[in-house]
Amino acid sequence: MEACPVCEGRMNRVSEEREVRIGRRSVRVLDQFFRCSSCEEAFYAPGEMDKTLRRASEAIRHEEGLMSPRDIRGVRERLGLTQHAFEKLLGVGPKTVVRWEKGTVFQNASTDSLLRVIDALPESAQFLADLHGVTLPEHPQVAIQ
Ligand SMILES: [Zn+2]
Repeated sequence: MEACPVCEGRMNRVSEEREVRIGRRSVRVLDQFFRCSSCEEAFYAPGEMDKTLRRASEAIRHEEGLMSPRDIRGVRERLGLTQHAFEKLLGVGPKTVVRWEKGTVFQNASTDSLLRVIDALPESAQFLADLHGVTLPEHPQVAIQ
């Protein structure tokens, strides 16, 4: 970013720790942005805000001992299920899994435990599949988006 969009002053690159809220939780993480040296207005370059939110999401998961988005995706892919089928298996609402896997929404603690049980005990996945009318692929290997 070259000049301030507000006053055309000089923009400085800033890296500082900031309290970031996600839902009801908040955490201190590194935030990177530009700040105008004259009017002090702050701006994110494209993608910077997402990076800060991702850092905050990772820090909160780490603090609370929750599985990461990548871990959740791994559990789903080892079962060979689409996000939609995985939602059905777990009995959670539409778009829930995509939000977990993007890191924009946290699974609650009991769901986190359920995900770990499913991953550790394949028969529990079969049990839930039968309960919720989901067909598990015979040889899940290929990653499905
Ligand atoms: Zn300015």
